[in-house]
Amino acid sequence: MMETESIPDTALVKALNYGGTFHQSFSSLDADVVLGAKDQTLFRIHSWTLKTTSGWFRSLFSMPQQNPLPNHPEVINLDEDSHTLESLLLMICGLPINPLTSYDEADAMLFAAEKYDMPGPMSLIRVLIMTPPFLDQPLRLYAAATRCGWEEEARHASAQSLALNIYAQEYQPVLRKLHTGAVLDLMNLHRNRREGIRQRLNEQPFVTGSMTASCPRCRWKIDHHTWRELKYRVVMEMDVRPLGDTVVDVGLTEWPEAIACWDARCPNTECTCVLYDKVETLRLIRDCIDGLPKTT
Ligand SMILES: [Zn+2]
Repeated sequence: MMETESIPDTALVKALNYGGTFHQSFSSLDADVVLGAKDQTLFRIHSWTLKTTSGWFRSLFSMPQQNPLPNHPEVINLDEDSHTLESLLLMICGLPINPLTSYDEADAMLFAAEKYDMPGPMSLIRVLIMTPPFLDQPLRLYAAATRCGWEEEARHASAQSLALNIYAQEYQPVLRKLHTGAVLDLMNLHRNRREGIRQRLNEQPFVTGSMTASCPRCRWKIDHHTWRELKYRVVMEMDVRPLGDTVVDVGLTEWPEAIACWDARCPNTECTCVLYDKVETLRLIRDCIDGLPKTT
């Protein structure tokens, strides 16, 4: 048996009778309840702690009980692994908590905290998943937040998701776990940003789609194909990265479509005036992107 040295002799005897190992921090013989994790680790804990911190245990203990033998309560076997159970019990006992390091861990705890109706651990996890180790996976955050009804965190996650192409294959598994309303809200946000920019680029003060254009200086016939190609590239980019940073910070100065557009001149050799005002167009597109909806 593991950890025998750290368990007092009396507790060890009891542990042998129970057919599992008591957790070091939860082996006090004063405690009147024994919880069993999926992997056989046992946790002694006071029923009062469980009753005051968990709706599920409050209901359980309000049901008529058989009188157990003194100092030998029956084991309540639970579905959680020992790490998840340990993390939850540390929280409800007011002991130093385990650091949360991954979404898999956080999700396992959230499912357990929801199941056992433990608002304390829920509130702690809610704070922890807004800290740095968790902020680089906005879709996992969005999934947890929408499931738990945390609106502010869901909005924050939706804003962070704008840097992602949510239609990419790699995000399908996490999107499948969301409820339909949450997926629709997210897809609408992404789509509305792309459609928003597409619509604005076809309106004044941008050059509109007229086929019979003429040079503003010499009235020579011109066509706006370089502008149309740049618009198309902007919309395509907003589709895969609706945040728009790659459009304004890189694309509009470095894309071949952008360079062609800013180089476009009137074909009249006696005029050759520049067709598009680069600085003003960049400013207008930046303003358009800034004005798009940012969260669900
Ligand atoms: Zn001209």
